[in-house]
Amino acid sequence: MSKNLSVQRADFDEVMVPNYNPANMIPVKGEGSRVWDQEGKEYVDFAGGIAVNCLGHCHPAMVKALTEQGNKLWHLSNVFTNEPAIRLAQKLTSATFAERVYFANSGAEANEAALKLARRWALDNYGETKNQIISFNKSFHGRTFFTVTVGGQAAYSDGFGPKPGAIEHVDYNDLAALEQLMSEKTCAVIMEPLQGEGGVITPSAEFVKGVRELCDRHNALLIFDEVQTGFGRTGHLYAYEALGVTPDILSTAKALGGGFPIGAMLTTAAIASHLKPGTHGSTYGGNPLACAVAEAVFDVVNTPETLAGVKQREQQFKEALAAINARYNIFKDIRGQGLLIGAELTDAFAGKSRDFLNAAADEGVMVLVAGPNVIRFTPSLIIPEQDIVEGLARFERAVAKLAG
Ligand SMILES: *Cc1c(COP(=O)(O)O)cnc(C)c1O
Repeated sequence: MSKNLSVQRADFDEVMVPNYNPANMIPVKGEGSRVWDQEGKEYVDFAGGIAVNCLGHCHPAMVKALTEQGNKLWHLSNVFTNEPAIRLAQKLTSATFAERVYFANSGAEANEAALKLARRWALDNYGETKNQIISFNKSFHGRTFFTVTVGGQAAYSDGFGPKPGAIEHVDYNDLAALEQLMSEKTCAVIMEPLQGEGGVITPSAEFVKGVRELCDRHNALLIFDEVQTGFGRTGHLYAYEALGVTPDILSTAKALGGGFPIGAMLTTAAIASHLKPGTHGSTYGGNPLACAVAEAVFDVVNTPETLAGVKQREQQFKEALAAINARYNIFKDIRGQGLLIGAELTDAFAGKSRDFLNAAADEGVMVLVAGPNVIRFTPSLIIPEQDIVEGLARFERAVAKLAG
């Protein structure tokens, strides 16, 4: 591989807004679940671009869709519709509860649309007083001002002036607290069917059923934010399928484009009817290039082989992490579903998740964190078994350095 060192990490600080603090190495190439940096050093990718690269890097089906569409038609705006967008919407609606799709460019935008739709639906049907949105502490719904305020970490929304109003938070898995807060004023409850950024936290089945019942009782919409859990991540196309609960609105992004930016909001025809022409929109949303790639991703992800493969890989990961834990005693819990796995550090290593991330990168494996105490793994859904073995061997070397 040819070296290109003319651009370096130090340059980042000279030209970029400092809201990110990226790693020191700069990746330049990816193939499957392997990535190479400028120096030619190779990494196993267990991060998957934060649960985005569901088919790894440069999957042939994606490259084919991108180049074919790239030679045909890139962009029109929503003054015109396009074939890939309609085909993708047909696939998404035939595979889920939904009957209507709104395309956006990111998870935050999909949630922004979901929340605006919920408010408009409530206004149309019940009047101005039904505007309360309830979400859960530690939840993450994106970084627009509405979505970050709805998210359950005030630190992310503080310091930007007056926040959007009528937004309340209760603890995840605390049905009694939710019941106490809900009333006829509640317009929507938004939840991740498994909290990702908040620490890979699974809800109890009774909790999810209870949330649905409370929404029904108070005529409130249930919004599932499946931006991270969706599109095969848990071993189901969408996590709601396994919970026995159907939301009214679902947001999806991240893995939807496999690395090409796209988001979508799915809902029923009756609810969708409240977003009349002109009420909401996006210049790029439903862009033919993005939709052509997402369609190709869908065709690979939504197959019994891929989804069953996620479950097999989950087991392989969890068993291997448990074996590492038996040798080094660093985790107090290994949890998550499908290939959204969290390993919570013991009290002796509390607050040190980022040290593990950095040590792992030094050993040639990319991992994520979910808060200060949880190491998170969100690899490609089709990561080869051998890459899991090799990546975890490298991860164990990093663990040995920190805990040996
Ligand atoms: C990543 C994420 C988002 C935000 O998606 P962006 O594409 O970064 O805007 C929203 N909700 C959940 C659950 C996420 O994991």
